[in-house]
Order: sequence, then structure tokens, then C-alpha cells
Amino acid sequence: MSLSCFDPRFGERMLSVDEALSVLGESLAGVMRTPRSERVALAQAPGRVLAETVISPLDVPAQTNAAMDGIALARASLPDAESGEPLSDRGELSDHCELSVIGSSLAGHPWTGRALAAGEAMRITTGAALPAGADTVIMQEQLEYRSAQGEGLGEGLIESEAGERVVIEGVTSIRRGQNVRQAGEDIARGSQVMAAGQWLTPAAVGVLASLGLAEVAVYRPLMVAIFSTGDEVTAPGETLPAGGIYDANRFSLVALLRDQGIEVLDLGILSDDEASVSAALRDAATRADMVITSGGVSVGEADHVRSALAACGELALWRIAMRPGRPLAFGMLRATPADAESSSGQVPFFGLPGNPVATMVTFLQFVLPALRLLSGQQRLAKDEASASATTLAQWQAPRLQLIAGETLCSRAERVDYHRGQIVLDDQGRQVVMTTGRQGSGILTSMLLAECLIEIPAGCATLHAGEPVMVQWLGSRGIV
Ligand code: AMP
Ligand code: MG
Repeated sequence: MSLSCFDPRFGERMLSVDEALSVLGESLAGVMRTPRSERVALAQAPGRVLAETVISPLDVPAQTNAAMDGIALARASLPDAESGEPLSDRGELSDHCELSVIGSSLAGHPWTGRALAAGEAMRITTGAALPAGADTVIMQEQLEYRSAQGEGLGEGLIESEAGERVVIEGVTSIRRGQNVRQAGEDIARGSQVMAAGQWLTPAAVGVLASLGLAEVAVYRPLMVAIFSTGDEVTAPGETLPAGGIYDANRFSLVALLRDQGIEVLDLGILSDDEASVSAALRDAATRADMVITSGGVSVGEADHVRSALAACGELALWRIAMRPGRPLAFGMLRATPADAESSSGQVPFFGLPGNPVATMVTFLQFVLPALRLLSGQQRLAKDEASASATTLAQWQAPRLQLIAGETLCSRAERVDYHRGQIVLDDQGRQVVMTTGRQGSGILTSMLLAECLIEIPAGCATLHAGEPVMVQWLGSRGIV
């Protein structure tokens, strides 16, 4: 069954969160465009989305090098561990041998002389290129240096002296290739390192830098227009009138958007007046890739957003079986943006519920996955099989299973998202507790939240000690 978001049936029955996400995904597929790209300096790249395939121009590391300070040698020049033959005629066993040191290879100052011969070693520091003829590094702690005259030399010396010798302890445990990083072992020259759609994390820009790239192509950030609605909604900094409430939603939403690398067009607060809402929507649709409002979508109130939207686009008003956040408007605004080429002429619109917790929870369930999709992000995985999921649901916050630290109650017919915190119980186990009162207007419940506890539809009571799924909001809490 193909569910269209403009299907009149949705006005009559509640949609599950999964159904809503799937309808949303289908609708967005119709307006998906590859975002335009631009080149930016690598320092500006974190938090952006890569717009090109990156093929490595070099081996990383570029040369085979030492992973430890010590000496480099050819493993074969050591006594044969199996035969146990003593190395020297002084009667020493193979676990203890002496080689002559012919020079030093230092990080940034590789050895340029001749190759090592049997019975020879070279001082080497971490990151220094392995000299020709060497395949193994023995760490400093196993070594003792002697001068040509047989006097002990300090360990800290890195420059070798003429005629210097080195005594190696624990020879039998030495394996060929130990403490050596092979050229290209991290990234091989010519291999694909990243693909378009990669969210540029600190690790990603580190990898790009290790390839020597000073700039990179990224997608232009999406521009999202946002406004609050409601005659009672008052901007912070103004005097609160009788019956007023300060505008929390615009600030939490702007912060959520910026966190995703989105550019925000903040259109302020609109009064409950159809003409002004509809003019603002029309204007926003010509300037933005998506429009988000909060408030004014509940059934039974002066819902100007709904009628204003009906006048300038297509609208679906969804009743979603979730709490908080049941009413949610989704639609497409007709638009002729300046950049008509990269636009489908339709701009997705989300009308989020006004209650501040409901605003944030619906944003996290629906708007965030939509933004990730539209911003050109690809879900990257180690292997193709796990990367093949194409639904919007893949962009939801990751779900983890935890143990309920207290009994949680819900209405059986819908999914409840309680704000949760992870604490240690008296046996030292991690369990999840709610953050306190859970009303959809109690925004401080989000302040403490590290996760959203998902009490599924069909489950009225979840007892303490039972497993429960949570949506993880990240180590800082998305919020
Ligand atoms: P509404 O969805 O417009 O019916 O609003 C539901 C509740 O959320 C009402 O109590 C509103 O006063 C409140 N509300 C609406 N918008 C905001 C906002 N921007 N900031 C804080 N509370 C809001
Ligand atoms: Mg309102």
C-alpha cells in the first residue's frame, strides 16, 4: 500500500511514527535534489557534508617507518631462535646478542647512507623511515648501547657514535616486522577513502589532512526558515504581557538546526492571523529549502497555520500515535526561489506542535531525519550491506537497549517518549530513569535528558528491571 501524505484517510486515523516516517520519505524523494557544492578550506570543513569522492594521492604512511624508538635491523641478522645457536664465541645464548650500530634514522631526517648488512643495526626514532635492509624495530627498553671502547652509553642518545655497538635482550621474542608501520598500511595510494555524503567529523577532516588536502568540496548548507506562531508568544528581552509566554521554541529549534550545520533564516514570531502567516510562508518558501513553524496546528484552536498553508501549498495534518507531539502538519509550499535550477518548485514544510517538549521531540523524530536526507548525507558503513538501508528511519537517533530503573507508565495506544537519564543503580548497573515530570510543557525535562525512553504502543506499563529501548541523544545530549 502506498501511503500518500495527502491521503484524506490520515485525517481520520492515527499514524504510527514509522508510517509517518515512511510517508515523509516518499514525499521528500519527490523534491530531492543534489545540493550545490563549493570548495572550502579544510579548517572550515568540520560539520559540512563532503560533495566528492576522495581517492588517496599517496600511501599513508608515505614510507615504512618505526612505531617505537629503538634500533632498526633485519630480523634475519639475529641468531636463529629455533636452533638456539649462540651468537658469539663468548658463549652468550641467542636471547642476548650484540650488533654494530652504523648510524641513525630520525623522524624528518631519514638515513641516506648504505643499506644495513648482516650484524648491523641503526638507531631509529618513532616515525623515522626504516633504512634499506631493515624490516624490524626493537624498542629502546630491550637495548643497551656500548661505545667502541666497550663503555656503557646512555639510553637517551639518538645520534650514534662511530664504532658503537648495541646489546639486545630478549632476542627470542623478536618477530619479523614488529614495531614497524608499513607504507600505505592505513591508506593505500589510489584507494577510495571517502564518498560524497560523508558528514565531516573531526576524524574525517583529520584523514583528509593526512592525505595532504588543503581544501575539499562540500555541499552548500541547507537554508531553513523558521518562525513561531501565537498571539501569546513573546520574544525574550521584551516585557511579558498578561497571558504571555516567552518564545522558547525558536531558540531550541535554531540551536538544533545549527548543530546540524544548517543555515537559519529566523523570521521571528507571527501573530495568530491567517493573512500574516500566509504572507510569511510565501516569502519564506522563496528564500529557503525548508520552512518550519511551531504552534498553531492543534485541532480546535485558532489554527491559522493550517488554513494559511492550504492557501499556498499542499498540506497533510497528521495525528501521530505518539506523546508528546500528536498533531503535526507536513506539506509542500509552492515556491519560485531565486535559484530555480536547483529547486523542484516545492519546499517542504513542517508545522510542529507548540508545546516546547513536543516541538523538540517531533523535530528529532521527523525533521532531523528529513534534514539529513535533504542535506545530501549518506549513511556510511564499513560494508555495503549495512549501508543499503534507504528509509528515513535510518536517520533517527540510534536506539540502545537499557534496563528500566523505575516503573514507567504509558497509554497503550501510542508510543511515549519519556526524557531519560542514565544512572547507576545500587548494584552499579546502568539503568535509565525519567528526568522527572513529563508534561509536554515541562521543557526542563529536556534539560536533563540524555536519551528518549521509547515506551512502545501496546505497552501500558514497563516494570523496573525490564529491558527498554532508548533513543540516544549523544554524549552532550542533542539538546
Ligand atoms: P499551540 O500548538 O499553538 O496550540 O500551542 C500549544 C502550547 O504551546 C500553548 O500553551 C502555547 O502557548 C505554547 N507555545 C506555542 N508556541 C510556543 C513557543 N514558541 N514557545 C513556548 N511555548 C509555546
Ligand atoms: Mg498557538
